Amino acid sequence: MSATRLILMELFISFPKETPDLLFPYYMKTPLPCNFSLQSDGHVHTKYCHHATGEMESYVLSAINAGLKEIVFLEHMEAGVHYFETTWLTEKDFDIYFAEGKLLQDKYRDTIRVSLGVEVGYSPSHKEELLERLTKRKWDRVGVSYHFMSLPDQQYHPNLVSRNKKNIRAIEKAGSGKVLDNYFSTLLEAVKVLPGTVLCHLDAALRFQPGITINKHYLEPIKSILEAVKEKGMALEINTSGFTIRDIPFPAPFIVKEALKMDIPLLPGSDAHNPEDVGRKFALLPDYLKSITE
Ligand SMILES: [Zn+2]
Ligand SMILES: [Zn+2]
Repeated sequence: MSATRLILMELFISFPKETPDLLFPYYMKTPLPCNFSLQSDGHVHTKYCHHATGEMESYVLSAINAGLKEIVFLEHMEAGVHYFETTWLTEKDFDIYFAEGKLLQDKYRDTIRVSLGVEVGYSPSHKEELLERLTKRKWDRVGVSYHFMSLPDQQYHPNLVSRNKKNIRAIEKAGSGKVLDNYFSTLLEAVKVLPGTVLCHLDAALRFQPGITINKHYLEPIKSILEAVKEKGMALEINTSGFTIRDIPFPAPFIVKEALKMDIPLLPGSDAHNPEDVGRKFALLPDYLKSITE
């Protein structure tokens, strides 16, 4: 058998049915300055986390419509959180998520790869529980985040990425600077402790806090986190929800530059909480990556 034929066969084995090149959106054909796939949305949610909308199948159809070859569901797991609403999946929810996800994997096998992962929010006081729950299932991807922080004298754990006034006020009361220092040191612990494969939205914490910008002042703690990411063989997420919130993805260019210097792989994710947002703003990524690597 000729070498070309072997290579062609490999292509057919490793990808779902080939989509004719013409059908790919134009931006997927743009050469990129680093090893980065625009054909996979690595971070979408489902209605099972109670703050996203849309059936899992609608997300898959939206991904197909966007010309993607893979969609990665990355659903919220949290432990030991005191909050005024539930914004994560229970173990029962995860059972349904897996059952439905597996049906979709089969149904769309020839068109798109459907991957089932988890976005695990770290909790220093409940790390054993998280580790036990993570070991129980076979995840295609484990995203590491840190959303809810326990603060002294406060009944609820504020959500660090929320625009809700209750969270903003609680963070203000504890001192935004202190909260941010704690965020970085605890996120470093999360990367070291959890069996993560990708670090999600690194600098999204306190994104709605007035007067707070994560800039080069925080380079040292961020570098330590990236070193741990590198050590664990993890990737860094380029979260395109940032384009909607602040015109650039999470994390900021100075962080992406550091990651590229360290040869940390980058993975794009839309963080879609509704089907329409699958692959959101991916078309902006080629130019964006070029602008920060020049
Ligand atoms: Zn969410
Ligand atoms: Zn998140």
